[in-house]
This record gives sequence, structure tokens and C-alpha cells, in this order.
Amino acid sequence: MGFERFGVVSFASETLASDFVTYLDEGKLMATKCTKCGAVSFPPRMQCTSCFSTDIEWFDVGEGKLATYTVVKYGPLGFENDTPYTLALAEFPSGVKVFGRLDKAIAEEDIKIGMALKSSTVKLADDRVSYEFKKV
Ligand SMILES: [Zn+2]
Repeated sequence: MGFERFGVVSFASETLASDFVTYLDEGKLMATKCTKCGAVSFPPRMQCTSCFSTDIEWFDVGEGKLATYTVVKYGPLGFENDTPYTLALAEFPSGVKVFGRLDKAIAEEDIKIGMALKSSTVKLADDRVSYEFKKV
């Protein structure tokens, strides 16, 4: 329960990691870490994909850097009216890589690989939530 509130279009209504949405409501973009082997995961997973342990803890991804990006000019189903927007891959000190949108306030000519980014919760219509990356 709860995960159906995530994003513009939800592809799952239930997940063991639904606390992700609760953390977003609190302004935190969280990933998971296996306390047994140290493997980190984003999207968050409540079972380690390396050692299969269920001893998992949450952590805030913090500030990261832009690894790569693309400007979307033809949006897929559900996103047609949002174009153009920029999809980014951000890398964080923990090693997690997070895919998400860049803040539309960042002009395309100001986007630089390696620029510092922080996550920000985005409140959508119908009590839905998502996140985007802003300049630090
Ligand atoms: Zn593990």
C-alpha cells in the first residue's frame, strides 16, 4: 500500500519498499543498503540482490553528481504533455545511481556533466509524489 502514489504513472501499487513514498513526503530520497554485505540499491529493495539477505537499512542518497542526461522531446504515454524535459542519471557517493528528471529551471546550456545535484520532492496532482534533481 502507498506506492500507487509514486510518480505521474504508477507501474506498481504495492511493494515491500513502499516506505520510499513516506520518505519522499518528508523530502528525502532514500535508497537501501544491505547490512550483511554492504550492497546498495536504487530503486530500493528489501532483499539484497547480492547475498539475498533481508537485513536492509534505508539511507538518504544525499548530494550527487550528474553522470549523463538526455532531453526528451517526444514523451511516452502519460508524459506527452510534459515535453521537453530532461532525464538525468545522477551518481551518489554511496555508489547508487538514480534516474530522474532535472529541474526545468535549469537551462539546457547550464547543464554540465559532473555538476552537483540534490534531490527534491515534487508534489503532483491527486496527492501523488515524485522527485527531481536540482542544482546544489
Ligand atoms: Zn547483501
